[in-house]
Amino acid sequence: MTPFPRDLYAPLVPYAPDRRPVEVDLSDNTNRWGTHPGALAAVRTADPEELLRYPPVYADRLRAAVAARFGVPLEAVATGCGSDDLLDSAFRAAADPGESIRFIPPTFSMIEIFATMNGLVPRPLDRAAPRSPSAPFGPLPDPGLLLDTEEGTPAIVYLCRPNNPTGEVLPRPWIETLLDQAGPTGPVVLLDEAYADFMEPDEGPDDLLRLAATSDRLVVLRTLSKAFGLAGLRVGFAVGAPEVIREIEKSRGPYKVNRLAEAAAVLALDDREGWIPETLAAARAERTHLARALVERGLAPLPSGANFLLVPTEGIGAGDAASVTAKLREAGVAVRPFPSLPGFGDAVRVTLGPRHETDRFLAALDTLLTPTT
Ligand SMILES: *Cc1c(COP(=O)(O)O)cnc(C)c1O
Repeated sequence: MTPFPRDLYAPLVPYAPDRRPVEVDLSDNTNRWGTHPGALAAVRTADPEELLRYPPVYADRLRAAVAARFGVPLEAVATGCGSDDLLDSAFRAAADPGESIRFIPPTFSMIEIFATMNGLVPRPLDRAAPRSPSAPFGPLPDPGLLLDTEEGTPAIVYLCRPNNPTGEVLPRPWIETLLDQAGPTGPVVLLDEAYADFMEPDEGPDDLLRLAATSDRLVVLRTLSKAFGLAGLRVGFAVGAPEVIREIEKSRGPYKVNRLAEAAAVLALDDREGWIPETLAAARAERTHLARALVERGLAPLPSGANFLLVPTEGIGAGDAASVTAKLREAGVAVRPFPSLPGFGDAVRVTLGPRHETDRFLAALDTLLTPTT
């Protein structure tokens, strides 16, 4: 008999981000401009039946809303309790315990956790070459290095674009080369686009999502937790070929999106000209503004396609990531510390918010900066 607790679970600890109350919370990349007003109204005016009855098994209204927004077939869409749920389900659908998953650190911290939870072997690809002004994230690795390892071919390749926590937007041709080399029988490529909504429109944020609907191996994951302001409702979706999506739904199981979440998400996804594009434009403008303000202070934020900036703490002169984070918190602002990030050293990740929150952050930061005169 397998011993309980399972050995496999020994390295896992329950997720415990710092959620102590703070005046301005720029630590978790949720939407600092608020929540979608139509979605909020839908939750406020819910009928008692909505609570009493089970939701549709696979959230077909939500699938239809995603299909309509992006011009893909409904059968190419799976939904879940946040995109975390879809990552977890996709891991189970695509890999047997003991198989491996490839990714390029630093990336989404949950990946290694979901891998371990599902008995998969995390195989990070070291991006060995150093960073430089012309390649602020380091040169891109040869995509083939993700597909073949000394230990064999991984079952899954995970990519995140824009990447959390660096903000890097992997170029589309590089991803297409990876898909070509993987071919129809290679690893399943999970492309996490939690922050794609914040990319510049001319970067083609939805191109790969559309490609996924007809691809043998590509699955794109999106969430309503960030741009759409609905993290509390837990809604995510995946787009892939219908045969792939069916497998993900099997491993996901029924009733993962509740009725209120589905109703709110449908309204938010339908918003093409209102609150959503307005707040996205505001976030992009704030990204430029904050990056400039940091550079003026002698800091070196990484270029970002997301609603956050990664700032190496080296130039701040107030200690490592943990102590910078603690001092900012004392000044009323929460950010996320990233100690010893491969390639970047200690850094903090700052979520973009409306101008008054940026100003609060900069004022807190200024109390830490060593005066130069
Ligand atoms: C926030 C985040 C998610 C999780 O989204 P949920 O839908 O809230 O589960 C997924 N991937 C990345 C990279 C994220 O930063």
